[in-house]
Amino acid sequence: MSAPTDAPTAALQRATIARVAVPSPLNQLFDYRLPDRCAVEPGMRVTVPFGRSTRTGVVVDCRRDSELAPERLKPIHAVLDETPVLPAELLGFVLWASRYYHHPPGEALATALPVLLRQGAPARPQQQSVLRQTAAGATVELSELARRAPRQAELLALLRQAGGQLTADGLGGLRASAKALAEKGWLQIEQRPAYGFVPAEAALQPPPRLNSHQAQACAAVRERAGFACHLLDGVTGSGKTEVYLELVADAVDAGRRALVLVPEIGLTPQLIRRFSRRFRVPIVALHSGLSDRERLNAWLAARDGLAAIVIGTRSAIFTPLARPGLIVVDEEHDLSFKQQDGFRYNARDLAVVRASRLGIPVVLGSATPSLESLANVERGRYHHLRLPQRAGAAGMPAIQLLDIRSKPLHAGLSDPLLARMREHLDRGGQALVFLNRRGYAPVVMCHDCAWTGTCNRCDARLTFHRHDRRLRCHHCGHERPLPPACPSCGNGELFPLGQGTERLEQELAARFPEHGIVRIDRDSTRRKGAMSRLLESAQRGEGRILVGTQMLAKGHHLPEISLVAIVDADQGLFGTDFRSIERLAQQVIQVAGRAGRAERPGEVIIQTHYPDHPLLHTLLRDGYAALARQLLDERRQMALPPYAALALLRAESPTAEPPLVFLEEARQQAEALAPDGVELMGPVPAPMERRAGRFRAQLLLQAARRQNLQRLLERWVDRLAQLRSGRRVRWSLDVDPMEML
Ligand code: ADP
Ligand code: ZN
Ligand code: ZN
Repeated sequence: MSAPTDAPTAALQRATIARVAVPSPLNQLFDYRLPDRCAVEPGMRVTVPFGRSTRTGVVVDCRRDSELAPERLKPIHAVLDETPVLPAELLGFVLWASRYYHHPPGEALATALPVLLRQGAPARPQQQSVLRQTAAGATVELSELARRAPRQAELLALLRQAGGQLTADGLGGLRASAKALAEKGWLQIEQRPAYGFVPAEAALQPPPRLNSHQAQACAAVRERAGFACHLLDGVTGSGKTEVYLELVADAVDAGRRALVLVPEIGLTPQLIRRFSRRFRVPIVALHSGLSDRERLNAWLAARDGLAAIVIGTRSAIFTPLARPGLIVVDEEHDLSFKQQDGFRYNARDLAVVRASRLGIPVVLGSATPSLESLANVERGRYHHLRLPQRAGAAGMPAIQLLDIRSKPLHAGLSDPLLARMREHLDRGGQALVFLNRRGYAPVVMCHDCAWTGTCNRCDARLTFHRHDRRLRCHHCGHERPLPPACPSCGNGELFPLGQGTERLEQELAARFPEHGIVRIDRDSTRRKGAMSRLLESAQRGEGRILVGTQMLAKGHHLPEISLVAIVDADQGLFGTDFRSIERLAQQVIQVAGRAGRAERPGEVIIQTHYPDHPLLHTLLRDGYAALARQLLDERRQMALPPYAALALLRAESPTAEPPLVFLEEARQQAEALAPDGVELMGPVPAPMERRAGRFRAQLLLQAARRQNLQRLLERWVDRLAQLRSGRRVRWSLDVDPMEML
């Protein structure tokens, strides 16, 4: 695989071969013959014959010769672009990532491109009709017009209300009136690209005066020209976002573009609003809620340099950026930056790589930095910027453990906790009750024979959802109605065991009937806009009690919350993944950070059966940084990331045997390659062996030095693809896996 070249045009004209990244599981590029005098440049899309089908690929390189014999070269069918759809920088970056993750370049590029471009659609924004009132239109007396042509008057009134300009979308029946008004010369209809910018807020909000820590952080970033990676390590509510806004303003003022990556935009409408209130520049937001067409429009706005600020989730790391100046990754510790299937990249890590290739600063922000980033600070690769205090008036909440051993529980809630809740609510505070489990109960059991509902397709129990009386598997989506009686003994009564957020909501509603309850989890926010509506009702204070999963832990500013209750911290203490404790600590600190964000002092109560757990104690007594140091020591001793590089080869099939056979052969193959400095562990069945009807197994590769691991993978991956046993399974390679599932 070769990097794209900026070959001079003359050489391109002489080129007769195009090297194309074609989406396919094969980890290689493919050569095609160029038709005579056909001008093709790297970054353009072409359609090519591939096997018996035709596919859309991206030209990576143009050259004069190929290793293939001329008669074996097939010609390109068609060139789809007049100019490269992918700028050279982005093309080079995606190819770099495809090599690092050992993922086929054609598929990596397909992942990086908006769906419509992948399918061959023209790289042009959609047009929309915009109505503009003319000078003549402005003089029209509306009441008079209303008597003769009420619909026309209505439209003109609407136009005036909107400041004289309006897009034709959503006008419905008034569209016809637009034509009539245009004929009279009272308005003009223009076609304009629909880039889908974030609507500007009416009132600009001036920045606050930065406190000294914030000012120091900004100064530290400004001090270094070119590439530098900064870890902005600031407690929840310390004003990290203000620092991003300030640094983005620097970039924008210098005529440069900023890319801001966030974990899940649906969860952070407030963040987008803060940007749109601060800036009078075009902003696009790239997230999963966009249609394919909207996504393409926003992507093109970024590519053509029209969007000054791009805010997006994981995949936005592949946005083309004209004149980039800054990359920000908010909540850098968040797992959602890692793509868990297909092209398994980590957008946080790629942000650092891209910034380095671009020679610009990157800021990773978090109140609970990942151990990876802290280790990079330790190694002197990242600059550590600290915001140790909350901005403004708020102090840090007091966190305490509540021993619930042998205490009566009501849907998981102890009496002392309920009593504290009542006190906070009586004083006018809001309470947030956190439980990272949706549904009513994680298990249903028969009272007579102890039967429990399990998924036919997974090694997992079915969760009971009470509102529609159904049993659902949270791993594969399988669902069925709750049986009227026990399916095993036929007469036993089924009862729910344990609790999820739905049950908590019910219990709290019975105990606090005078207070509104807002539940936020994946079930309650399924419908479009539901999340914003629920959050707004919480912000207006209608819901005094918030119940929810980790969706509530992220970034929301809910000023009235004075009490945060973590119903069950124990699940996280005994996870099978070596990162379990790190995740638990991040979750506790993030949820706790929702408490006392304004004047009201905050209190956090964590229910546990292990009040003496040493790590919980370190976390509460000495803080996240102290716990992180301790966990880093452990990782170093055990040679685990960030002090080792991992790769996980996964395989699955409808029966148990083939994945193990394939992985065993894969292991032997790797061993034959003399994998110096790489330890091979397994194959073993995955922690959840059966999922969605497939048996899963894995082989772990561990190396103290990343180069050793990469050296092995480079030689191994292509051979792996040739193993016959690989045809009986679905396999994938995960470089830097974040979950061992
Ligand atoms: P973080 O991103 O670290 O959670 P935010 O930037 O959201 O913190 O700031 C928390 C709150 O403090 C917000 O309401 C914000 O407007 C306010 N804030 C931040 N910096 C300042 C400042 N320098 N002066 C006054 N208020 C500030
Ligand atoms: Zn039974
Ligand atoms: Zn299942």
